[in-house]
Amino acid sequence: MCAHTQNAGEEPRMSTNKVVLITGTSSGIGLATAIAAARAGFRTVATLRDPARAGALREAAAEAGVELDVRALDVTDAASVASCVEGVLADHGRLDAVVNNAGAGHVGTIENGTVEDVRQVMEVNFFGVVQVTKAALPHLREVGGRVVTVSSVGGVIGQPFNEAYCAAKFAVEGFLESLAPVAGAVGVGVHVVEPGAVASEFVSNVGIDQERAVADAGPYGPALAGYLARTNEAFANAAQSPAEAAEVVLAALTEPRPAFRLQTSAAARGFAGVKLSDLDGSAVQRLTGAWIA
Ligand code: NAP
Repeated sequence: MCAHTQNAGEEPRMSTNKVVLITGTSSGIGLATAIAAARAGFRTVATLRDPARAGALREAAAEAGVELDVRALDVTDAASVASCVEGVLADHGRLDAVVNNAGAGHVGTIENGTVEDVRQVMEVNFFGVVQVTKAALPHLREVGGRVVTVSSVGGVIGQPFNEAYCAAKFAVEGFLESLAPVAGAVGVGVHVVEPGAVASEFVSNVGIDQERAVADAGPYGPALAGYLARTNEAFANAAQSPAEAAEVVLAALTEPRPAFRLQTSAAARGFAGVKLSDLDGSAVQRLTGAWIA
């Protein structure tokens, strides 16, 4: 577990009976976080953009013997975010924490893609976080609550063929690193959780046919093949489980003094650490350049 420090204005707290809203709970880290939060005693509002996809979530809740309040929320739709947060306040009377978990990967490079692709990636991964955080803040302020956001090691280190995704996660980290002392001044804790590889639906949800992507990548084909081979290997052999990542999200929700930035594994901590001590950027370029050499 990481070192923990307290953001300005935070008080130690118990989780029991507090209300947490989590985005993107149809699978992966969001689903595992919903179960872990409910087990820890939170009244857990598990949101999904399409409630018809709540089957796995409901099954996991039944297996764990916990109750969830399952609601619709699409982080890219302002009206959906506002009506969900209003509904939670109307029905539960309070909101103690949000977990910005919803996100989606993207593999590609700008010469072969479109600016619109990049905008879409920013909509889900960055503006979704902005939208949910803004809607929740007035209510979190009333109770001294927390904003916990699932970022990525990709929010610290730019990685080949992840230009749009890493740009969005960097934006998330810049937004929240800047917000943290301001929110702390009014009693709200702001924390980012940085997973490395997690064995969720994340890779399959990117939805690319790898062979075809390499064939269509023109002069970038060999580098893309190298990147995909390395990534496939990392996800096959070194990924942690969603439940392990969710434990760190839960710690950010419940520990008295969580740090601003929490990696979810030793591997993630080691990787992020390369950047954070790489003042001129050469160590990161050496490392990621070797992935595709
Ligand atoms: P996942 O299994 O693909 O889960 C992503 C979740 O986000 C799904 O529930 C998905 O819902 C939801 N989502 C996508 N677009 C949405 C939208 N517009 N509104 C609401 N929900 C939306 O992948 P995961 O690994 O658990 O990802 C969770 C978070 O961890 C993401 O922020 C991701 O960037 C981050 N992360 C993952 C990894 C990894 O290796 N897996 C590593 C670092 C960081 P649908 O079912 O509706 O698509």
